[in-house]
Amino acid sequence: MSATNEHQDRNSENSENNTGESSLAQASDRANGELTVSRSVQEPCQIYPEVPGIDCNSFQLSPDGLTPEQRHAALNQLYKYESRQQEFFIGYQTNQKLDFAEDLQQYLNFHLNNVGDPFTSGNLTVNTKFIERAVLDYYASLWNARWPHDPQDKESYWGYVLTMGSTEGNLCGMWNGRDYLAGKFLLDDPDAEAEAKKASEDGRPRSIPRRLIYQQARATGENPNAYTPVAFFSEDTHYSLTKIMRTLEIKTFYELGTELYPNDCPIPEPDGTWPKEVPSEDRNDGPGSIDIKALAVLVEFFASRGYPILVCFNYGTTFKGAYDDVEEAGQALMPIFETYGLCQREVYYDPADPSKYDIRDGFWFHVDGALGAAYMPFVEMAYNRRQIEQRGPNFDFRLPFVHSISMSGHKWIGAPWPCGIYMTKTKFQLRPPDDPEYLGSPDTTFAGSRNGFSAIIFWDYLAKNSYEAQIKKALRTEELARYAYQQLVNLEQRLGKDLWVEYTPLSLTVRFKQPNDEIVFKYSLSCEELYVSGEKRKYCHIYMMAHVTRELIHKLIEDLDKYNAFPEHNLGISEPQAEIFAANNAMKKLSHVPHTGRGFK
Ligand SMILES: *Cc1c(COP(=O)(O)O)cnc(C)c1O
Repeated sequence: MSATNEHQDRNSENSENNTGESSLAQASDRANGELTVSRSVQEPCQIYPEVPGIDCNSFQLSPDGLTPEQRHAALNQLYKYESRQQEFFIGYQTNQKLDFAEDLQQYLNFHLNNVGDPFTSGNLTVNTKFIERAVLDYYASLWNARWPHDPQDKESYWGYVLTMGSTEGNLCGMWNGRDYLAGKFLLDDPDAEAEAKKASEDGRPRSIPRRLIYQQARATGENPNAYTPVAFFSEDTHYSLTKIMRTLEIKTFYELGTELYPNDCPIPEPDGTWPKEVPSEDRNDGPGSIDIKALAVLVEFFASRGYPILVCFNYGTTFKGAYDDVEEAGQALMPIFETYGLCQREVYYDPADPSKYDIRDGFWFHVDGALGAAYMPFVEMAYNRRQIEQRGPNFDFRLPFVHSISMSGHKWIGAPWPCGIYMTKTKFQLRPPDDPEYLGSPDTTFAGSRNGFSAIIFWDYLAKNSYEAQIKKALRTEELARYAYQQLVNLEQRLGKDLWVEYTPLSLTVRFKQPNDEIVFKYSLSCEELYVSGEKRKYCHIYMMAHVTRELIHKLIEDLDKYNAFPEHNLGISEPQAEIFAANNAMKKLSHVPHTGRGFK
């Protein structure tokens, strides 16, 4: 009772600060218990982060909603805020040059839902699957897959438009890869119909739902590890991967190595432990692409012990924008897979019938092409015409060892919300390909309801931007990245200070010493800590997306040129982190979760 009174007192004290007569905080007082809602125990605007230019109170909702005046005033504030932040936006690889409102705004008044497989129509007909298929065909062609999708043509692609961004695409790639390597199957259940028939004998009608059996091949005595995939990705990999490892309970080489082979790491860290992720070339000092020699050594360690291999490559790392050389990596790894029987494995899916088996690879290569997969094909086209001196390494379905690719729609394209593409091949879906007895089913999409508007956004952009236009955009942004790098190097010379300016060739990003918080906010700079030659450094980066201009770069340089733009950072380990480390020391380390950096902040 006394606790409740305290809260009431607190609320009445704070109520003077509220703009509306009836904030949610006071709802239950006013309604005499008629409204069954909880009341706040603290004034939200006093504890939430302050946002420059935003008055938190004017956005607080109440049981009565807001008056039209209040609502419009709030929306005005919102518009001003987003417009200003957009004007100076240069810190993330999301394109802010959007041109959809005029033609597409009317679709905000439709609920467009592409639930289920893009290649089946389904009964939710207010959908855009016919557009989704055209968009998927476009990317299948751009990534040199066989198209259109045809369930009978096992070499043809399969994919879908994601409701999340590449995080969902990576999740799908890892999920698909894990199940494929773990010898899982989706089979039509031949007993479903007989059971329904039998059950209906009591006179009540029974439906015959199509039922699938999710089945697991059994590991044979001679290789107990045959269906335990082990995952590899570089230390420049997006943080979504570590989350995905936990969600899907996939073991990384670090986890398995530490658990089962603690003293046998072929390329140990200085303290003898396993590296947590595959080293990048020259580690933090380097360009950010995966160290293929290190990858090969680590993969061989596990391949020789019979484990199937799951690799996630990066095509455009989040922070440095680096491109893993997927082709060279494949060439280094294929002989290893051949040596240890991981190329064409017979996977038996009917324990009673040894003639029923599926031939599967014992490895899965997923390419996280969040940014790079969208525009590097155009850099390659420009290179073929000698419009640019360099191109990126091959990464797409031209490489027979690539199993899946993901890409974000809000990065290069500039969609108004997160979305993306996941693509694999029909033959990698979880069904035995050649057995007519088992009809199988298309692998399901991860999400249930899927955003049908995103497919329209992709389509509209691709309809308005020919290859020619996209080649021009790619060349322009590449040129802008080199320009920004030069401007920052000039600034460094002018200031006579080392600003750690670095640029990975062909990337659209330049990284440098993190400036003060005001500049970080104004330009939405993404920041990350890196160790370089034993020194912990705070970096930030800028990304040259289609909306970025030389003028914007000049404005940033002007701000960086001001007194106190680069305050000295306190680089000690902060208290809460120290606690986490302490808590972990006594326990088995399952995985390492970057919760700052890598584009997280
Ligand atoms: C941005 C990014 C992701 C995550 O994509 P979302 O679209 O934000 O989910 C994954 N990988 C890389 C390399 C990225 O840059």
